[in-house]
Amino acid sequence: MNQLDLAQQSAIITGGARGIGFAIAQRLLQSGASVCLWDRDASALKEAEGRLAPLGKVHGVTVDVTDENSVRAAVDATSGHLGFISILVNNAGIAGNNSKLWEMDVTDWRRVVDINLTGVFLCCRGVVPKLLENGYGRIVNIASIAGKEGNPNASHYSASKAGVMALTKSLGKELATSNICVNCITPAVIETDILKQCSQQHVDYMRSKIPMNRFGKVEEAAALAAWLCSADCSFSTGAVFDLSGGRATY
Ligand code: NDP
Repeated sequence: MNQLDLAQQSAIITGGARGIGFAIAQRLLQSGASVCLWDRDASALKEAEGRLAPLGKVHGVTVDVTDENSVRAAVDATSGHLGFISILVNNAGIAGNNSKLWEMDVTDWRRVVDINLTGVFLCCRGVVPKLLENGYGRIVNIASIAGKEGNPNASHYSASKAGVMALTKSLGKELATSNICVNCITPAVIETDILKQCSQQHVDYMRSKIPMNRFGKVEEAAALAAWLCSADCSFSTGAVFDLSGGRATY
């Protein structure tokens, strides 16, 4: 593993208790950053914190990213733990149930959009003023190839991730002269617990679209995220970075 220089950096990783978020936390800690894992399950957070503690300074903060007050409290708790915040990785997300749009439960639609898109908005809204105070920051949003291509039987998920890409582009421009870069990643399918929410047929469909003919690995997502979180990423903002084993054609 190549280490990036993240010493003196303080990062929030939403959905950091497992999956891609956990791998990003691991990689940032290995590069010298201090980390706050934001997640909604206190016991999963405690376990993740314990596993990561040998790598550096790490704290778990219980938060629901869809709740404005909860996010505000988490920003305060994180500032208390880390002193300042310089990196935000918006990773928390869900897949929702698979169905045709016209058969989709409205509650399911709202839940997916609320967590995957409004959650990113609320976390950016809460953290950007802290980054502006520092005069430096990096924001990385985890979108999805589904946001570019639109996966069938996942209109809620695809639309929410397209929204994350557009939010990234807007915020990137708003902060372009503030020394704060905002970028997003569009992974194809990566083997984590999130796939348990999808039908086998849907997982098979997503895998069949990947020219490399394999799932991505959490470490591959973490490697790209770590670079986007670093000062080395200095002339890219409002951009969408591919991580799809060749699936994306733009
Ligand atoms: P996981 O399900 O493994 O992890 C997601 C984490 O986010 C869980 O710990 C989950 O908690 C947490 N979370 C969900 N809702 C909230 C909430 N409201 N507030 C706080 N935390 C919450 O998923 P992945 O690691 O696979 O996915 C991470 C991101 O990557 C997601 O945004 C996903 O859409 C995206 N992505 C994933 C791909 C894949 O194939 N794995 C492909 C493309 C994008 P809980 O356990 O309580 O649900």
